[in-house]
Amino acid sequence: MPASAISFPFDNSYARLPEAFFQSTKPTPVRAPTMIRYNTDLADEIGLGTVPLNSSEGLTILSGNEVAGGSEPLAMAYSGHQFGGFSPELGDGRAILLGEVLLEDGARHDIQLKGAGPTPFSRRGDGRSALGPVLREYVVSEAMAALGVPTTRALAAVASGEDVFREGPTPGGVFTRVAQSHIRVGTFQWFAARQDHAHLKILAEYVIARHYPEAGQQENSCLGLLAGVVERQAKLIAHWMQFGFIHGVMNTDNMSVAGETIDYGPCAFMDHFHPQKKFSSIDHQGRYAFANQGPMGHWNLARFAETLLPLMDTNSENAIKQATEVLDRFDGIHRAELTKRFTAKIGIAEGTTEDWSLVETLLGLMAEGEVDFTLLFRYLSRALESDSDTEVSGLFPEPAAINGWLKQWRTRLMEVDHGQAVRLMRRMNPVFIPRNHRIEEAIQAAYRGDFAPFHNLNDLLQKPFSEQPEFSEYETAPAPHEVVQATFCGT
Ligand code: AMP
Ligand code: MG
Repeated sequence: MPASAISFPFDNSYARLPEAFFQSTKPTPVRAPTMIRYNTDLADEIGLGTVPLNSSEGLTILSGNEVAGGSEPLAMAYSGHQFGGFSPELGDGRAILLGEVLLEDGARHDIQLKGAGPTPFSRRGDGRSALGPVLREYVVSEAMAALGVPTTRALAAVASGEDVFREGPTPGGVFTRVAQSHIRVGTFQWFAARQDHAHLKILAEYVIARHYPEAGQQENSCLGLLAGVVERQAKLIAHWMQFGFIHGVMNTDNMSVAGETIDYGPCAFMDHFHPQKKFSSIDHQGRYAFANQGPMGHWNLARFAETLLPLMDTNSENAIKQATEVLDRFDGIHRAELTKRFTAKIGIAEGTTEDWSLVETLLGLMAEGEVDFTLLFRYLSRALESDSDTEVSGLFPEPAAINGWLKQWRTRLMEVDHGQAVRLMRRMNPVFIPRNHRIEEAIQAAYRGDFAPFHNLNDLLQKPFSEQPEFSEYETAPAPHEVVQATFCGT
């Protein structure tokens, strides 16, 4: 493979870790790559604005056909609990870390190719990705970023010009992902499963230095690390729920210790609300259904805590006692964050437990009436502005079903300034989310060679809280025949 004329300002700290952490692996070239979308704003943000990646030269790197100067490509080792069962041997089977870019302020970003060919962890997989999942991850991760949710980002989507074989031949793609890091709960499990405490300690110290420097100041830094990850994840999952987001496959190998949303596979934003809603075709039991995400996040963090026990205290009873205390904070943090976010969605800043009951009653009515989650909250802000409830009640099959609740809500809001409440609601309730049927439509068009719907979707989702009359058809819920019933992993 030729070395590229392009070189990155790489500083590859992960590649400097001991060999047990990864396998050096080069991307496998593809036949005829073309650039579908390149994220210039993100490139600027992470200090790559002056690297000519959006060019034919850059395409060779973003397709994996050449390796940039300074890159030390590798596949990371990790394990994971998948749907509750432990798999000791996972690792990046279709992702290759090219390196890390470091900004002057110390911010560090991983640059990773997904779908760039097999690695020593690929098992029976081909290391490739179909174009559909590439486009889905691009749209959804960038939408999440615009919504303000901590997430990995999309730098580029490339068509490989080659087919991959899934149910049949399907056009392939390569996705360039940017993350604070790609270290997962499963990365810790890799070493814990091998009783390799020496490497576990190196990993913990590395993660503390990279993501939780404040924990390094504490007497028991691993306990500080656990507390930091618990807090970020408890808040992150509440943040997902604010927008009706369902991750779909919250296995421990898909949980980032940096606290970013990672691994967008069969994820989806709900249209009509139901707490037990799930989309993933492989989640038969609804393990990762909407309202289970908090408890499942907590469960994953208990697995994380287990890996840290030997580093916390040589006395295992003491270690368990301390770790349990920290883990027990999860529910309180998660609940407080949910209360804050959902009461703000109905116009109440600093919501109380009583205000949360108001939210719960509303959610109950929405579930019963199969009411669209995004439209309901947006219409509520308009109801407050206009003093008319018809739009809101029109979402319910029995419009009168919501009257009692609306009366209660309006009484509560008499205590607050309506102008402020409306502004708060507009900040909390997007006009646009990447609805499943729109993603599906964009993917199907792309398979026919038409990328306009994909670009439209990305463009409008950069400002999800702003009315954009030219895109108003993207606000609406799917017609019955457009509803997407199930989503599939990107494998
Ligand atoms: P995921 O479902 O994407 O979280 O992946 C679970 C595991 O399967 C990870 O170790 C992936 O790297 C691996 N994997 C998924 N798809 C492929 C593929 N097409 N080829 C090789 N490995 C894969
Ligand atoms: Mg994964």
